[in-house]
Amino acid sequence: MTVSAYIGLGSNLAEPAAQLARAVSELAGLPGTTLVAQSPFYASRPVGPQDQPDFVNGAVHLHTSLSPHELLDGLQAIEQAHGRERLQHWGPRTLDLDLLLFGETTIADLRLKVPHAELPNRDFVLQPLLDLSPGLTLPDGRSVAELRRLCPDNNLRKLPPVARPLG
Ligand code: ATP
Ligand code: CA
Ligand code: CA
Repeated sequence: MTVSAYIGLGSNLAEPAAQLARAVSELAGLPGTTLVAQSPFYASRPVGPQDQPDFVNGAVHLHTSLSPHELLDGLQAIEQAHGRERLQHWGPRTLDLDLLLFGETTIADLRLKVPHAELPNRDFVLQPLLDLSPGLTLPDGRSVAELRRLCPDNNLRKLPPVARPLG
């Protein structure tokens, strides 16, 4: 059995759009996982510390037979392969992969909170989700479209498409 999972991608170091494009291929290559669709990429102002470059953000829709925690393991392995370092909370990073939604599942344990805790507050997450699935709802029934309308604006700018590397 597979589940629809949505992953948020972000980068603001070392050619962010290229980091994201490579990460999309790597997500598609996770075991038991297929890529359904990828959103456009957006530039946005950073959350938290402002003395860092703008971010590039996007999201992907996956079908996966992994468990949520196995998927998180996969996301963190991909982050590591991109040289992710955790130096400062909400600081600059080569790649951030957040598990946004996992079917209708709600999780709140020490390692994993799903839906992602900040999802309703971030236009750079809600907009790509809306691009992927306009009718998407959270497990509690709230619609992503409505959350996007209510969300503060962070000067999102849609970027031109980036070719995904082969393989
Ligand atoms: P934010 O979560 O506000 O976007 P961040 O992405 O910078 O901040 P990280 O340093 O990447 O935070 O992650 C810190 C921890 O968050 C991870 O080690 C992971 O265990 C935990 N975590 C909890 N829920 C999730 C989730 N839905 N997706 C990814 N990580 C999560
Ligand atoms: Ca994040
Ligand atoms: Ca993260």
